Amino acid sequence: MPYSEELAVAKEAVRKASLLCSAAQAGLVDSEKHDKADKSPVTVADYGAQALVLNTLAKAFPEDPAVGEEDSSDLRQTENAELFERVVDYVRKIDPALDAEGILAAIDRGSHGGGPKGRFWTLDPIDGTKGFLRGEQYAVALALIENGEVVLGVLGCPNLPIDPADENSEKGCLLFATKGSGAFQAPLSDLDKVSPVKVDSVAEPSKAVFCESVESGHTAHVRSAAISESLKTEVEPFRMDSQCKYAAVSRGQASVYLRLPTRPGYEEKIWDHAAGFMVLIEAGGKIADTFGKPLDFSIGRTLKENKGIVATSPLVFDQVVRAVVASGAPA
Ligand code: AMP
Ligand code: MG
Repeated sequence: MPYSEELAVAKEAVRKASLLCSAAQAGLVDSEKHDKADKSPVTVADYGAQALVLNTLAKAFPEDPAVGEEDSSDLRQTENAELFERVVDYVRKIDPALDAEGILAAIDRGSHGGGPKGRFWTLDPIDGTKGFLRGEQYAVALALIENGEVVLGVLGCPNLPIDPADENSEKGCLLFATKGSGAFQAPLSDLDKVSPVKVDSVAEPSKAVFCESVESGHTAHVRSAAISESLKTEVEPFRMDSQCKYAAVSRGQASVYLRLPTRPGYEEKIWDHAAGFMVLIEAGGKIADTFGKPLDFSIGRTLKENKGIVATSPLVFDQVVRAVVASGAPA
């Protein structure tokens, strides 16, 4: 199978990072959080997960660059010494061979600019940090992009119930896909227990379940309500943080994931979508932006040629895209 070596390494890296995140989420204290310059929150687990994943990739594929969300500049400030110490503690519990310098160096392997040529990894060490802080859904999202195209995606979802039909089932899933080979999931506790992942076959938008971000700053809730009204949807929508929404559509828990721009000029980040994109496509789903344009992962660290996201199961895609386009100019 193409990319089988990359997939094995990526799954193990995401599994280890997911373990670190679960441990950190269970007992997060104030000294383990920090606000970045753009005011968005970051925690010991964001840094720790990025260090673990990028160090694992560096060992297996030393030539491959990476586009990661975090960098170590804040961690190197003396006022953040305690935060940094906590990062080192968490990482060394899982990978004792990494020392403080190695952790900073691994985090900074994520500074690549992306682009159309060659291959690179992209990582969101914790996608949905706000969900993580609320004790809710979040994901460790890792993808491989080759010549501008996503070819592999792995999503670690530590709080997602394994059985999509039973929210009380054991939590913790790993979803993964490589181009042309289908999408699969396994419990984070047993990666050998693999099962296929498939989107639903809902054909009527009125029967479609919609999902969207919890955060009103990340998607326009009012516009999505108007869109589902225009499609006469009868089923209650739900809100969920992170790329777990891609998992939800890929597993048939939802038919539609809308991400509608809330402000002009915002560029979606490639690490917020690449892994979820691959899983969704391989599960049989379809995806475009809010103008119906295909997503372009080849331009750099952001999807600057796209606005928002429309991700759905296949049979409702055209009608949902039409309704989104008709719902008017984005922010
Ligand atoms: P979600 O959990 O789906 O709400 O998405 C979390 C992601 O939203 C974070 O990783 C951020 O990169 C991203 N984000 C931050 N600001 C915005 C914004 N204004 N519009 C869309 N996404 C955003
Ligand atoms: Mg993110």
